[in-house]
Amino acid sequence: MSFVQSERLASFDGIVHGFADRTVGTDSKEIEKYYKLPKIAQLKQIHSTDVIIVEDMENHDNLTQGDALITNLKGAGIAIRTADCVPILIVDKGKSVIAAAHAGWRGTWSEIAVNTVNIIESKYAIAPSDLTAVIGPSIKNCCYEVGEDVASLFNEKFENTSQYLSETNNSKYVLDLSIANKIGLQKAGVVDIEVVDICTKCNDSFYSYRREGKGVSTQLSFIALNK
Ligand SMILES: [Zn+2]
Repeated sequence: MSFVQSERLASFDGIVHGFADRTVGTDSKEIEKYYKLPKIAQLKQIHSTDVIIVEDMENHDNLTQGDALITNLKGAGIAIRTADCVPILIVDKGKSVIAAAHAGWRGTWSEIAVNTVNIIESKYAIAPSDLTAVIGPSIKNCCYEVGEDVASLFNEKFENTSQYLSETNNSKYVLDLSIANKIGLQKAGVVDIEVVDICTKCNDSFYSYRREGKGVSTQLSFIALNK
């Protein structure tokens, strides 16, 4: 079993986390066993901005639809699955609340990361400036070409898109979803943000939708508060 860890999160007591590669894939059982977690809650991901607060881990249904989870329950994990999309893990300074979000281009455009931060603030009274966010392995601008349709959606909604969106040729663009999410998180007030410098398409330890095509498997990104 192997997974990548964020330097920032690995330095924190009180949590465990990881961005699994294809050796783990979606096998949450293996991670549960390794970290002695009774459960890792997941979702039926639908490229939405829906954020699910897990208040009853035992009865959580992994078929609940949504693309981000938040919990303050200790001793059990939350996870999302990706293959090129951006996994984002969040924890507060007091290690009392964690979140895991899935952002493809749709989730990035509709700002699921910002929505997650806003809900943490309103539900748990935790200021965004007290959060650490880590943007995990995902497809980077070396490999993520998009068409005019996607590019115009970003240009119509956001200012300064040149920080993460640039035209190549023939009306093709490269989009850096990591940077777009980082800018969104900063706009929401998060200061402590780490971006893991791994492109899932370039690095074949990871499943990649763009490299392997439809039907590709996914890998888990997980986080849990210790008991
Ligand atoms: Zn790449």
